[in-house]
Amino acid sequence: MLEHLKDQPADKILSLAAAYKADPREQKIDLGVGVYKNAKGVTPVMRAVKEAEARILAEQQTKAYTGLAGDPAFADAMVDLVLGGTVERDRIAALATPGGTGACRQGFELARLAKPDVRVWHSAPTWPNHLSILKFMGVEAKPYRYFDEETALVDFEGMMEYLQGVAQGDVVLLHGCCHNPTGANLTSEQIDRVTALLTEKGAMPMIDIAYQGFGDGLEADAAATRAIASRVPECLIAASCSKNFGIYRERTGLLMAISAEAGQTKTTQDNMNFLNRQTYSFPPDHGARVVATILNDPELRADWEAELEEVRTGMLALREQLAAELARLTNTDRYAFIARHRGMFSRLGVSPEMVERLREDHAIYMVGDSRMNIAGLNAETVPVLARAIVEAEKA
Ligand code: PMP
Repeated sequence: MLEHLKDQPADKILSLAAAYKADPREQKIDLGVGVYKNAKGVTPVMRAVKEAEARILAEQQTKAYTGLAGDPAFADAMVDLVLGGTVERDRIAALATPGGTGACRQGFELARLAKPDVRVWHSAPTWPNHLSILKFMGVEAKPYRYFDEETALVDFEGMMEYLQGVAQGDVVLLHGCCHNPTGANLTSEQIDRVTALLTEKGAMPMIDIAYQGFGDGLEADAAATRAIASRVPECLIAASCSKNFGIYRERTGLLMAISAEAGQTKTTQDNMNFLNRQTYSFPPDHGARVVATILNDPELRADWEAELEEVRTGMLALREQLAAELARLTNTDRYAFIARHRGMFSRLGVSPEMVERLREDHAIYMVGDSRMNIAGLNAETVPVLARAIVEAEKA
């Protein structure tokens, strides 16, 4: 029967990584896959993670199953990290999942379990895996306008216009911070207007927060999520620990579901546990245990926060250097948005042909929609990229 299988479309970002690897040119620059890299091009294990792993290795007495929802200490620590006490704890059900991807998938599944014909609105563009998961599940996906190609910033009025079409019981997917793939984010006033609109429409926000600490800091990056979650009756939040703890392969994430009343939480939690049981039973534990160990130990936590802050300010410095270099070379402020974007990505807003020229003529690899991973740069390669952009523009 397996002969009936058809080829699946290749994942564009993963194919780009393979093409980069195969490129023999020495001066090549990889701005593709969404993994943080330091100035040496390395994705390091964070110091606090190493230390937490050493403690777990020394102290862990059993590897028997955890609960279906994972280790409660992980859930509590993450609820606190993301929501910071802004929502009553007894209204929050939480489910450990394999990564933020697992949290997104289980969030969509939970919404569909509650409403079999649920529709999910998403920014155009969004992280492509949101769309492919929804398509695979057969859930209707509705785009809302988000990115203004001209300014490379958010087209907020366009977004609000599209969101007028939202109906009661729809889910509206938002990025908590550091929008992927654009890097363009809503202001706090805009978040307030979106929150008011969704409340008026009776829609449920679902917030995907995968880069807390990569934009303006751990607290600032959680502000939008907290502002929304504390004001709406119901909300889903999919949090990933892959980037901010650098534990990509450990597959560590948490789905939070906020119910309107504390009396609903048990049923919501039971349904979430049921979803884990049907999919993989118990969620992975190692990464979750590392995260809980770090967040619950003041010394480890301080060290983790300090290292994360270095990562964040390093990326900001690269943004500023690139924007300044492009301003110098073009004599315009047309690329000033790069310094205003936040997180690991910026969408340049240039044509696929130009992206191809950058790849063919300059060995610079970015995703076809002109998303570049800022962490793929360092102080030496920023001027190389800036010159290549200017040349490719002229070609
Ligand atoms: N959401 C967004 C917006 C992302 O960019 C990512 C990672 N690329 C994820 C979720 C999921 O990350 P992971 O499953 O690796 O935790």
